[in-house]
Amino acid sequence: MSEISSHLKDLKESLPENCTLVAVSKTKPSSDVLEAYEAGHRDFGENKVQELAQKAEELPKDIRWHMIGHLQRNKVKYIADFVHLIHGVDSLKLLKEINKQGRKSDRVIDCLLQMHIAEEDTKFGLDKNELDEILQGEQLKEMTHVRIAGLMGMATFTENQDQVRREFKNLKSLYDEIKNSDHTNVQMNTLSMGMSGDYAIALEEGSNMVRIGSAIFGARNY
Ligand SMILES: *Cc1c(COP(=O)(O)O)cnc(C)c1O
Repeated sequence: MSEISSHLKDLKESLPENCTLVAVSKTKPSSDVLEAYEAGHRDFGENKVQELAQKAEELPKDIRWHMIGHLQRNKVKYIADFVHLIHGVDSLKLLKEINKQGRKSDRVIDCLLQMHIAEEDTKFGLDKNELDEILQGEQLKEMTHVRIAGLMGMATFTENQDQVRREFKNLKSLYDEIKNSDHTNVQMNTLSMGMSGDYAIALEEGSNMVRIGSAIFGARNY
C-alpha cells in the first residue's frame, strides 16, 4: 500500500462516521490526488482557483471539489460550474457573485460562511455582527442560486490547546444558534473545522468536516 493510501485509511478509521474528510491536495500533483481517488476517496480541497480548475479538468469527474481558500469575486466564474462546496465565503458581495454565477450555471451552490474565530488578526472571516447582517438581511432571501450549508473557521496557529479548543467551542455555539433559527436559503448541516494539527480537538468540539492536507500527502514545499 502506498503512503498516501495508508495515511488515508488510518485517518478514516479514526474519524467518526458523520464526519466528512476533505483531503487537501494544494501544491501536490494530480498523481497524488489520483492515488487517493483510487483508494476510494472523493472529497478534495484546494485553496487556489487556478489549481482547482486545472486539477478538476485533469481528474475524474465524480470528485467533489471543495474550495477552501480565500476566493476573489472575479474568479468565481472559473469554478461555478462544478465546485461542490465553497468554504471561505466572507462577504455579502462574494455571496452575490456566487449567486450570479450559480444562476448562469443553473446550479444552487453550497457555501459555508467563514467565521473569524482566531485571536490572530491575520486570518479571514466574518465577525458575529457581519454574520447576523448576512443572515437577517433582505438580500440573501433573493439569492436563489446559493445555499448557506454551514460555517467554517480556522483556529489560531498555536501550541496552546486550550486556546484552540476555546475558539472551536465559540464556532460550534454560533453554528448551533443558527441551526436552530429559521432563515431563507440557509440549511445548516456542515461545520468545517480542524486541520492536520488540530482536528482531534475540532472533533471533540463538534466538527463534522475536517480539512486535512499534510497528514495525508506529507509536508508541502512552497
Ligand atoms: C492548507 C489548508 C488546510 C490543510 O492544512 P494541513 O495543515 O496541511 O492539514 C486546511 N484548511 C485550509 C483553509 C487550508 O488552507
